Amino acid sequence: MTGTPRFDLLVRGGLVVDGTGRPARPADVGVSGGRLTVLPRDSSPGSASGSASGSVSRSVADAAEVLDARGRVVSPGFVDVHTHSDGVALLGPPGGGDGSGGVSGGDSGRELVRASVLQGVTTEICGNCGSSLFPALPERLAAMRAETRITFGGDVGAYADFAGFAAAHGRVPRANNLASLVGHGTLRAGVLGPVDRPARPAELRAMCALLDASLAQGAAGLSTGLIYTPGSYAGTAEVVALAEVAARHGKPYVTHLRDEMSRVEEALEEAIEISRRSGAALHVSHHKTAGRYAWGRTERTLPRLAELRAGGMDVTCDVYPYTAGSTALAAMLPPWANDGGLRALTARLGDPAQRDRMRRAIAEGVPGWENTVGNGGWDRISVACAPRHPRAEGATIADLAAAAGADPLDVAADLLVAEDGEVTIISHSMIEDDVRRVLAAPYAMIGSDGVPKPGGRPHPRWAGTFPRVLGRYVRELGLLGLEEAVHKMTGMAAARFGLTGRGVIRDGAHADLVVFDPAEVADLATFTEPLLPPAGVGAVVVGGAVVVRDGEETGARPGRVLAL
Ligand SMILES: [Zn+2]
Repeated sequence: MTGTPRFDLLVRGGLVVDGTGRPARPADVGVSGGRLTVLPRDSSPGSASGSASGSVSRSVADAAEVLDARGRVVSPGFVDVHTHSDGVALLGPPGGGDGSGGVSGGDSGRELVRASVLQGVTTEICGNCGSSLFPALPERLAAMRAETRITFGGDVGAYADFAGFAAAHGRVPRANNLASLVGHGTLRAGVLGPVDRPARPAELRAMCALLDASLAQGAAGLSTGLIYTPGSYAGTAEVVALAEVAARHGKPYVTHLRDEMSRVEEALEEAIEISRRSGAALHVSHHKTAGRYAWGRTERTLPRLAELRAGGMDVTCDVYPYTAGSTALAAMLPPWANDGGLRALTARLGDPAQRDRMRRAIAEGVPGWENTVGNGGWDRISVACAPRHPRAEGATIADLAAAAGADPLDVAADLLVAEDGEVTIISHSMIEDDVRRVLAAPYAMIGSDGVPKPGGRPHPRWAGTFPRVLGRYVRELGLLGLEEAVHKMTGMAAARFGLTGRGVIRDGAHADLVVFDPAEVADLATFTEPLLPPAGVGAVVVGGAVVVRDGEETGARPGRVLAL
């Protein structure tokens, strides 16, 4: 061996699925300076299955490090377009012993960060559903920090702008990359506070200015969560004004619709109107038609999206491969109950008369409010995370109520009060046919909607989404072709969110890769063991550094916050 190797890393002997949707082909992939070089192999018998001859052995001599990918698929690193991982990496071990300055979270925090990487995700996009860790006016930051301390179960901070968020993450070593949308709910709370009223003109101008600054610094787009307070307090016009700012930056309007249940079609029309009036591209988050009144409604929403696309509108969506969702227990209560934030909510829950009002609102509905429990029932809502009540985790609210001989709303209310308003739930609200229809839509990409926070039994999607699509929906059910599924996880996602030079395997692209066994890949995470790593994901490469080898983290931390 003489001189410097041509490549820092060579992924040798695999079948390349390049993320564009094109057919798989045998090729080696070289990495130098964090960028890819594709080295086609002839597909004669023996070369893909591993004879160390010809071009293969020559290229091995040219590399400082080799990953053996014989019998495996080599694809671009997965882009998780929908996460709530904004703060999890900032939760260091107790006492902040890794120098990150984190104060809580401990081993579970570390395990949470790892789960995404082990399933092959090389870029996470957070700031979804209207909730991000920035921006805010300086005078609102302390109050926002207090709320995030409750929401994330630790001191993860709140930042004036994207640059502040990126700087905080920049101080914490991470394995994969992170990009963030600007959350409309955060923006609203960061100017008005968490109050139930329209924004005044000056406040809307301030929101637009904060959004503009963060988008200019590199945030990925604007997100809304119009079922969640305080985003739900905004009318359509307010969101149009903000989406116009996103449009000026050429960045998408990403929305958790105002209703994903009985009024999902109306909510979709509102999103379409916002996109049309503002000029921003539309991306519908975790598209679903949930609750018994909306089951089967994807037979109407998907043709509507297809029709808009055929007419030239830039509209896409994402989906996770499960029939259960996960959110905050507080979101099961009517919007007025959350007016003023978590402290105001728990104060109201202490008042029996207010509880009765909430009980009636759930039974009768409130115009413009999704009302998950009214669409399903407390027997479909199970407790995921309630740190002070580990024995409640995994049980449904209906079961807890039956065991206590109490009314379900009182059980939910008592739990919320005892947990300072922060309880995560899993909502078994969808049917498989709808999930499959959305997965198969040619403009649907994959997003986990993972909500990593310490403790409890989070939804298994944070650890299982991508291997589940590849194992269950590609290999077992044949719903998607392999190349098509990989495209949804990589190239399609990178194009939507402006991840230039990512999501594809081609000469000069960023060296973010996954090596997986198409015969073995499968999710192992379940509702009872939600963080179990998947099977069949052998290696993960971020920026040319191997972060996972033989299914285990290597300890390399090449990840960073991406300014887009
Ligand atoms: Zn959402």
